[in-house]
This record gives sequence, C-alpha cells and structure tokens, in this order.
Amino acid sequence: MIRLILFIVIIALASWGVVWVADNPGTVSLNWGGWRIDTSASVLAMVAVFFAAIVAVVYRIWLFITRAPQMVSGAIKQRRSRKGYVALTQGMVAVAAGDAAEAARQVKRADGLLGDPPLTLLLKAQAAQLNGDELAAENFFKAMLKNEETEFLGLRGLLSQAMKADDKETALELAHRAQAIKPKSEWLADVLFELESSTGHWELASQSLKQLEKINNKMDATSADEQARRRAVVFYGRSLEAENIGDMRARTKWMEKSFNAYPGLVPAAIRLAVIYADENRPRKTAAVVEKAWALSPNPQLLEPYYRAGTAVDGIKKVKAMEKLIRTNPDHPESFMALAGAALEAKFWGQARTNLDAAMEKGAATRQLYLMQAQLEEEEKQDSQNAKRWLHLAASAPQDPAWVCDDCGHVDSQWQPYCPSCATLDSASWRSSQGVGQGVGQGVGQDADRGDTPLVISHNG
Ligand SMILES: [Zn+2]
Repeated sequence: MIRLILFIVIIALASWGVVWVADNPGTVSLNWGGWRIDTSASVLAMVAVFFAAIVAVVYRIWLFITRAPQMVSGAIKQRRSRKGYVALTQGMVAVAAGDAAEAARQVKRADGLLGDPPLTLLLKAQAAQLNGDELAAENFFKAMLKNEETEFLGLRGLLSQAMKADDKETALELAHRAQAIKPKSEWLADVLFELESSTGHWELASQSLKQLEKINNKMDATSADEQARRRAVVFYGRSLEAENIGDMRARTKWMEKSFNAYPGLVPAAIRLAVIYADENRPRKTAAVVEKAWALSPNPQLLEPYYRAGTAVDGIKKVKAMEKLIRTNPDHPESFMALAGAALEAKFWGQARTNLDAAMEKGAATRQLYLMQAQLEEEEKQDSQNAKRWLHLAASAPQDPAWVCDDCGHVDSQWQPYCPSCATLDSASWRSSQGVGQGVGQGVGQDADRGDTPLVISHNG
C-alpha cells in the first residue's frame, strides 16, 4: 500500500517536472578547458539520469567481482561440512546398530571433513566403547571436558563408565559436576539420588529427592503415592544415619517423620515402636503399633507392644492381643497373634479357635503347624497327632521374612537398600519360597481340623 502511494507520488512529481521543464525551456552553457557546450536544461537532466544509471550498474559488477572468491570457497566449505555431518550421522546410526567397523569408518570420514570439531569426540568415544576399548573412550570423554559445549556430554560418558565399574565415589563427584551445568536434568537428579542413598548419604539423598520432586512436579495419584513412600524410605535412612553418629534425638525424629510420611511402610512402624519402647514411652509405642496393625499386621510389631504393656506373662499377652487385634479382627495375622499368646497362657480352647481361624483364612506357614503340634502335645499329650503336624510343618513354606523382590535376598531386618542387589525399598514381608507365599493357601478350608491333618498341599 505504502509502495503504491510512493509510486503514484513519484510519477506525479516526475510528470510535474517534465511539464515544468517544458514550460521553462532554459539553456545551460558549460565552459571547460577550451570547450563550450550549449544545451537545454531538459537534455542536461536526461544526461544526469543516464550517468547515474551507469554508475549503479558498474558498482553492482564491482561488488560481484570482489565477493566471488569468498562465495565460491563458502560453497565448497558448505558442501564439505554437509558431507561431514552426514558421515557423523551415519556413524551415530552405526553405533546405535552396534556396527563397530562402520562406526570407525564414518568417524574417520567425519573427522577429515569436519576438521575435528568437539562433536566428533562423542562419536569417537562411542565407537571405542563399541570396540570394548573403555580406556580410549575415557580419554575421548575427558577431551570433551575441555570444551564448554561438550563438557556435559563428556561428564555423562565418564559417569556411565564409573557406574558400570561400580565406582560410586567417582560417579558421585562426576554427577555433582554435571548437575552444576544442568541443574534441571531429571536424569541427573535421579542418578544422584540413587548414588547418595545407596552409599548411605541420606541427608544428601533427601536434598536430591526434593530436587527431583521439583523437576517432576506434574504427577498423577500413583506417583504421588510412590513419592510419599520414597520420602518415607529416605527419612528411615536418615534415622539410621543419625543413629550411626550417636544422635539419638535425631534418630527418633527421622523415624517419626518416616512413619508419618507413609504409615503403610511397616518397617518404619516396627522400628519406631522399638525406639519408643526403648525410650520407655509405652503410650506412643502402643499408638504406633495399633495404627500399623490396622493397615498391615506384622508379627515384628508384637515385641515392642508387649514391652509397652509390660505383658510379661501369657495372661497379660492375651489381654494385650485382644486389644490390639480389634484394629484388624479378620486378618490371619491377628488370629495367629492371639493364638500365640493363648498358647503361652495355656488357654487351650482360645488357642485352638484362633489357630483354626487362621487356617481358615488361608494361613499355612511353618509356624502355624508348629503351634498346632504344640497344642496337641501340651493340651492332650497326643504325640501321634503332634507328629503329624510336625510332618506338615516340615513341608510348609518358610515363615515370612524380609525378602528382596529383585534378588530373593532374605533378611530378618528390613533395610532401605537390599545389601545384596542394592535396590531401594525392594524387600517385602513374605515367605522366601516364591513370591506371595507368606500367607498362602494351604491345608486351609476343607481340612478336617485336628483329626487327619495329613493332607499335604503345595502352595501356588
Ligand atoms: Zn536384592
């Protein structure tokens, strides 16, 4: 629009000029070096325009001539670098495909074409790794540290090498350096959390966890639950860390935080109950155990509970159990707990009722059969029947313990990290004979109770 107006204005001015010159036909005389030129003003104007056009064309030609060599060499360079990047890409594809020979060939080509830019270092390192030459790869990664643009990639390469070699201290140092460059990297925060927690640096790990949660703030309900549990595991670790340096107040505080962050983490409840019992705080002990029992009954909660209630004999234990199991009356562990106390109190009827109820609920552990045998022996002196129960006990699944879901490592104490395979929060309370056999289906429902307990069935 503006151009159109400008064009109209120029045309108008030009035609006005032409008319003006025609209306004022003056003459121009030029004296110069013995020459004399007489002409009209309109001719002079036309000559001036003609010269201006010539000068413009000459200037263009001159520009082209002076720039030509640069343009030609630029085009050649461009072609070379394009070829170089094609070689680089093909090299990366070869690395991804695991073709070591092709990767080496392309890295050589890219190197020649691109003139050794920092980017080829990564390909060189990867090609070396593909050839199994970790030392050469390490040198390439280290060379990448010298360039600001490739420093992070170099650190990442060295970090993965250190992790593979299980050199956690070096890996930690490298990860911290890398995080200084890219503080928002979720991958790094994840690696740092794992390294710090698995080396027992729980205080640092909780900082990394916070960082991780900050980066990954768009979470759904499941990951919110997972995060709460992971936080609880970290607090558990901090309690252990405090205990190691003899800070007993911090030990209690962190275990309380752990239990409150995720009450479903039974190991925290067990440990907190033991701590409270040790500190002679019976009310707090009982409150923790009762809350945990309602969520997930575990026999390891019983010892601190008895201590808190000074339940030193069978009769007192029965009383304590009758109170505790009210929080979760239909759970097999509740029947087992009451049966155990009743056996100790020699309340045979109560023991039998609860053992049978536990069996009906599907409990089929060694301990259950041993208790049945004890009952036959002590109540009726029926060693024949007792033997049958003992026989069943021998082929029953192991009593539950803390079993690592990843590697099967069995422990009587829960630990935040599996000491065998170093997986976080991997142990669950179950029988070590296969997954989910802690309280499985066994002799159960149809067995003729007490009479012929020789029906041996195997767990799923
Ligand atoms: Zn394990």
